[in-house]
Amino acid sequence: MQSGTPDPDTPRDLLSYARLYAESVDVDVDHDAIEWEVSKRARRRAGACSYDADSGTVTIRLTWDAYEQYGWRQFTATIRHELVHAWEFQRFGEAGHGERFREKAAAVDAPRHCESFTDPRLALACTASCEWRAGRHRASKPVKQPGGYRCPDCGADVRVEHLASGVTWTDAAGYERARAVVDDW
Ligand SMILES: [Zn+2]
Ligand SMILES: [Zn+2]
Repeated sequence: MQSGTPDPDTPRDLLSYARLYAESVDVDVDHDAIEWEVSKRARRRAGACSYDADSGTVTIRLTWDAYEQYGWRQFTATIRHELVHAWEFQRFGEAGHGERFREKAAAVDAPRHCESFTDPRLALACTASCEWRAGRHRASKPVKQPGGYRCPDCGADVRVEHLASGVTWTDAAGYERARAVVDDW
């Protein structure tokens, strides 16, 4: 990843980056009236936008798993998409994916459809006989340097698996080899 590209590691960091990023997008919304949330629950959509007509509050909910899968750069498209919904809600009291949405989305280079996303690409697993396992979408630190991490259940070493290819590794050098041999990362 290039230096200077945001790489938030926690939902809290993702929230702060998303808010900051949103203010740089050229769409005329009242940022003070937008609430941001990050959901760690499994969801099918990368983001969602809702509106409380009584208070006038727009809520944008971002899905952590989608961010993990996309990485920051691609995830900004989700943020732009939800901001266009926020703009519709604030201005018209309703939002959808019709002509009005399409034009505004095109103006800020946002995808027209709310994106859904798929299962994790990577899994961390305990190398001992315990059952611990966790899906990962993104090449986060434990994926790149599993040698520095221990199974949270039993303390044994951790192994990473690239699920589509079955390639596994347990340290940073193994990660580099895996990147070199797996064609379809
Ligand atoms: Zn949408
Ligand atoms: Zn274990």
